[in-house]
Amino acid sequence: MLYEDNLPFAKQMDAQDPLRGFKDQFHFPKHHDGSDTLYFCGNSLGLQPKNTEGAIAEALAHWRQYGVEGWFLSEKPWLSVHRDMSELAAPIVGAKPDEVVIMNTLTVNLHLLMVSFYRPTTQRFKILMEAGAFPSDQYAVESQVRFHGLDPKIAIVEIKPRVGEDCLRTEDILQTIENEGDTLSLVLFGGINYYTGQFFDLQKITEGGHRVGARVGFDLAHAAGNVPLQLHDWGVDFAVWCGYKYLNSGPGSIAGAFVHERHFSDPHLPRFAGWWGYNESKRFQMEAGFEPMHGAAGWQISTAQIIPVAMHQASLQLFKEAGGMPVLYEKAKTLTGYLAFLLGKSSYAFKIITPSVSTERGSQLSVLTDENGKKLFDYLAENGVICDWREPNVIRLAPAPMYCSYEDVWRLGQLMK
Ligand SMILES: *Cc1c(COP(=O)(O)O)cnc(C)c1O
Repeated sequence: MLYEDNLPFAKQMDAQDPLRGFKDQFHFPKHHDGSDTLYFCGNSLGLQPKNTEGAIAEALAHWRQYGVEGWFLSEKPWLSVHRDMSELAAPIVGAKPDEVVIMNTLTVNLHLLMVSFYRPTTQRFKILMEAGAFPSDQYAVESQVRFHGLDPKIAIVEIKPRVGEDCLRTEDILQTIENEGDTLSLVLFGGINYYTGQFFDLQKITEGGHRVGARVGFDLAHAAGNVPLQLHDWGVDFAVWCGYKYLNSGPGSIAGAFVHERHFSDPHLPRFAGWWGYNESKRFQMEAGFEPMHGAAGWQISTAQIIPVAMHQASLQLFKEAGGMPVLYEKAKTLTGYLAFLLGKSSYAFKIITPSVSTERGSQLSVLTDENGKKLFDYLAENGVICDWREPNVIRLAPAPMYCSYEDVWRLGQLMK
């Protein structure tokens, strides 16, 4: 792609963009002069789709209208809503519908699936993860290790980039897996590192983990709705993600979980159970003895959360209308590439720590600044840019393809200069 640093070029790109109509489907926070802000924070909290309000209103109306009978009688019976959700969410992560369940929140799901898939033995007890993983994942893993009576300092192996480098090399990840060999119980990585924006080679990591007999799971918080995923074909054991980053389903909204179908029939897989994961056809017989529902849905614990589900459903509907991840990712590559091009035109000494190869990143560029970084960040904010600052000196910029235009990116580029 030959980019140009001028407004007519950006406008022309927008005119040709098959997703151009979607910007108007979102609410943008207003800048103090009343204009829309330039929103580059979809990696942290996605914008509110305009159909969210109607979806909530509809769920409230059904509750009003049907009371408890809404479980069976409403136009969208609440009892079976998890199946509609799995249908909508499965293509986003490249899974079969029965491998996906929408429930709880991200860190909760991580714990639940670690209960099933982190089964340390005397010989095989270690967890391999990327150094500097998102803190919630670090705390979850540390507490799981302690729960099994193990010492996190021994049981958790963290892999760091080479000296002088910002991102991990796949070969080094695979070598570490190889070195740890049959002491590895679980390989647990982010799909995309939240700080650097590096998109890991999930297929190679899965193959590497399986080669030494470990289980492999991913936290897709920054990957779901951002980059193409093929969890089923890659043979990933389990994955979890949240609904509020690229998936635009509202602050703290409902999250997702994936369990590969090869685990469905394993009777030895322990889990923390609740009635919502119990065999659906017999749930209301209220019998003793847990019998899981088929598929990932069998990991549900509590009653479906109808309002957050409605918000998530409304947003996933837009992903479907947009043509799904292949279409979104196609734009993401050019749009993020355009931002990288514009940053390269600046005389300011930025260093982009996100990989420059488009297949190794999604819609985020992490810009390492110097001691004036905070001033730059404040300057962007004063000029109507919403992005995010990570201590000590990184600005994360995420042009989400669903609602960011080439013109937005061009304007950001001018301010960054
Ligand atoms: C955003 C994020 C979280 C947040 O977890 P919640 O349970 O939704 O609060 C956890 N892990 C990663 C990798 C994240 O990016």
